[in-house]
Amino acid sequence: MSLLSARNLSKVFPGKGGAPIRAVTDVSLDVAPGEVLGLVGESGCGKSTLGRSLLRLIEPTSGEITFDGQDITVLGKAGMKKIRRDMQIVFQDPFGSLNPTHRVGHVIAEPLIVQGVGDKATRRARVAELIDLVGLPEDAAGRYPHEFSGGQRQRIAIARALALDPKLIVADEAVSALDVSIQSQIVNLISDLRARLNLAIVFISHDLSVIRHVSDRIAVMYLGRVVEIGPAERIMENPQHPYTRALLSAIPRIGARREDRVRLNGEVPDPSAPPPGCAFHGRCPQVMEVCRKTLPPLGQPADGEAHHEVACHLHPVAAHG
Ligand code: SF4
Repeated sequence: MSLLSARNLSKVFPGKGGAPIRAVTDVSLDVAPGEVLGLVGESGCGKSTLGRSLLRLIEPTSGEITFDGQDITVLGKAGMKKIRRDMQIVFQDPFGSLNPTHRVGHVIAEPLIVQGVGDKATRRARVAELIDLVGLPEDAAGRYPHEFSGGQRQRIAIARALALDPKLIVADEAVSALDVSIQSQIVNLISDLRARLNLAIVFISHDLSVIRHVSDRIAVMYLGRVVEIGPAERIMENPQHPYTRALLSAIPRIGARREDRVRLNGEVPDPSAPPPGCAFHGRCPQVMEVCRKTLPPLGQPADGEAHHEVACHLHPVAAHG
């Protein structure tokens, strides 16, 4: 059973010139308890908006979100406050997301205070436990965020997200602002915590080389839609969508030949003026006439493997029934 399910989720922002900005369109996905789903795509593909919409930090325009068997799209403020104990977020910027005027002990305890959990003594004990869990120095509670490095600040943000013992965390570009060497430490920490706490994680990154280390499944997004989704090793070893192939070929690999590299020209199109047909057609090296007119549906190709779905005319979806 899924812990989190989104069905036909869309988010449209009002645009400045009047044209609506379609940040997320018709996304359906599931996350099982303890599973890590990687969400990948270039900047502007809608992955952060989707991540926040899943937690209703941004109100979806349409669609349904079920969390732990409950339809959370219909919940009011009080209902959402209760459910937020179980769903937390870690943001990209470990410098901006921590209040610099509060000591780290207070920063980590904040979710407990907001939710009215425990008294001072039990909160202090929980903070000490969390500091140990994320590998911060023992005396961290009494110090201020600016006294810590970028990687340590992200450990503080993770400890805060774990304070209420949630079932799901959305990690929104949680390692992107860090040096490469520190990135792998935080990725390892997240993997370790997920195993120890049976934590489900939606891990958002523009970097497929980071996503592959932490994810059980990967969803590739392009202009607000999921264009490929499947088990991580299948996406990495046998990607079907030309966009996924292009993202993958951008990762430096030993033995990779220069001529095999798929160059990705141009940028993600403007979401207020999405192109007709397949949104990737202007950049796709395998574009066909049909791609310019008809949107390819996301589904399991007739010649594909179970649980691996693609939205591309090169891989027609199997007919049902
Ligand atoms: Fe390329 Fe066409 Fe597939 Fe889109 S549908 S990815 S344009 S081949």
